[in-house]
Amino acid sequence: MSNQFVDLHCHSTASDGTLAPAEVIQLARRNGLSALSLTDHDTIGGIEEAAAEAASLGVDFLPGIEISCEHPRGTMHLLGYGVDPASAVLRDLTRRLIEARNDRNPRIIRKLNELGVAITMREVEVESGDGVVGRPHIAAILVRKGYVNSIKQAFDKYLGTGAAAYFDKERIPPREAFDLIHRSGGLPVLAHPVQLRAENDAQLERIIKDCADLGLIGLEVIHSDHTSELVDKYSRLAETFGLLKTGGSDFHGTNKTQIELGVANGRRVPREWFDALVERAGREKAAMKR
Ligand code: AMP
Ligand code: ZN
Ligand code: FE
Ligand code: FE
Repeated sequence: MSNQFVDLHCHSTASDGTLAPAEVIQLARRNGLSALSLTDHDTIGGIEEAAAEAASLGVDFLPGIEISCEHPRGTMHLLGYGVDPASAVLRDLTRRLIEARNDRNPRIIRKLNELGVAITMREVEVESGDGVVGRPHIAAILVRKGYVNSIKQAFDKYLGTGAAAYFDKERIPPREAFDLIHRSGGLPVLAHPVQLRAENDAQLERIIKDCADLGLIGLEVIHSDHTSELVDKYSRLAETFGLLKTGGSDFHGTNKTQIELGVANGRRVPREWFDALVERAGREKAAMKR
């Protein structure tokens, strides 16, 4: 094993992170990471800038995206690694996902207004800049205006699942997400399995088996939400199902102040995991061309 480390899950201002794509790469460099994948929610808007900065700073880079799927309990997020930024399938998918957000966000704002919170869609648009609007942007405004003390409290009180101003957005069925990531030239990896909120191990294994049948190639083993026990458990599951192991911090800049780029709950992600992903992406591309 080399002693190089990587981060395969992070967000920029293209979605709900607070650092620009180039700044994420600069931070990766400062933190001594040798490779990075940017995985913004529902967009590849940051990929070009990040890739250019990575090339100039000598950080290896893999394009990525994070997509929310329909899931009966918690959240199912699918990471797509090595997606082709020029793919028409990907462009259609991201457009559709962003429309679903545009449909949800004004409802959240209206509900907040009804609850006596002074906030406008315009403020949210300013907060998100050119990026895809996410709840962390709304949360940041609530903190700044003093309605809550932290992003976490904003989710607990207003924005989280089942909270006072919670509205779901349309999500795509897993089958479709796997298919679209695949057709965009990407490798589907199941993000932070802990967030699936499986009731027991048997249920978790069933979900992973179903995903494997749909073309899953990897499992996010290391993540900021994973304890050591969970890292061990997901590592075993990855081996059982013949899946690649991946990992990342899910860095969001100051929208998740406790998370440092390259560190996931005290752990670092080995370079070998990045290399295996890149190697697999190359093989899939060669197979698709045939
Ligand atoms: P959205 O894309 O608008 O559905 O928002 C999802 C983002 O909100 C992701 O970055 C999550 O990590 C973040 N998020 C979801 N629940 C919470 C929570 N309870 N506390 C802090 N951040 C959260
Ligand atoms: Zn996010
Ligand atoms: Fe996620
Ligand atoms: Fe994420």
